Amino acid sequence: MRIIGLTGGIASGKSTVSNLFKANGIPVVDADLIARDSLRKGTVGWKKVVAAFGEEILQPSGEVDRVKLGQIVFSDPGKRQLLNRLLAPHISSGIFLEIFKLWVKGSKVIVLDVPLLFEAKMDKWTKPVIVVWVDPETQLERLMARDKSNKEDASNRINAQMSLDLKRNKADIVIDNSGSIEDLNEEFKRVLLQVTRPLNWTEFWLTRQGAISALTSVIVVVLACKKIYNSL
Ligand code: ADP
Repeated sequence: MRIIGLTGGIASGKSTVSNLFKANGIPVVDADLIARDSLRKGTVGWKKVVAAFGEEILQPSGEVDRVKLGQIVFSDPGKRQLLNRLLAPHISSGIFLEIFKLWVKGSKVIVLDVPLLFEAKMDKWTKPVIVVWVDPETQLERLMARDKSNKEDASNRINAQMSLDLKRNKADIVIDNSGSIEDLNEEFKRVLLQVTRPLNWTEFWLTRQGAISALTSVIVVVLACKKIYNSL
């Protein structure tokens, strides 16, 4: 199984690229969705976060007010680290469960879409790692337009993250999304061809089919050895 890592910075276009993978039939494991699930009312993650941040982060329904929580953690790096520490184990296990389900289904190539792929050191599980990069001015403009935020809030959000240039240096494949959507679609076609090339042997043995072949080979060899041994 090939697990492609997909990451970027806020508003660099990662979700847009993720949607292109889905549209082309490649399953995507979305860490943001899993993180959201790990904060659902009544889960262990929810209990830990409410105990640490207090009931003032809750909506009247009891669900976490994600905007309020976002404002708290984006203005305080210590609280941001605390939130990451509380939720990280639940997010990791959720991600591994999703990957396992896709493995059982027999998927050969999947995408792991994780905003904090490098920060959470999950890049070591993925090959290749794709970084969706954008120039700083375009990133700020797109973030302000998408989230209807002012320049100060948008800049704070961008500056709270690992720099996009640093992520670009760690990438195997860089998608430069500073141009138009049409440019992105063209760039994506090139990347899709590259990442869906035939599996190498290691990737094949890590697929469900590979594991079944390996197991079948072992059983055949054991039975053959037994037969030879019995006939001696
Ligand atoms: P991320 O998931 O990295 O935060 P998004 O995929 O949500 O970023 O993209 C941020 C915003 O920029 C969205 O509103 C999206 O529609 C827009 N966008 C993405 N790529 C382009 C592009 N090439 N041209 C114009 N707008 C874009």
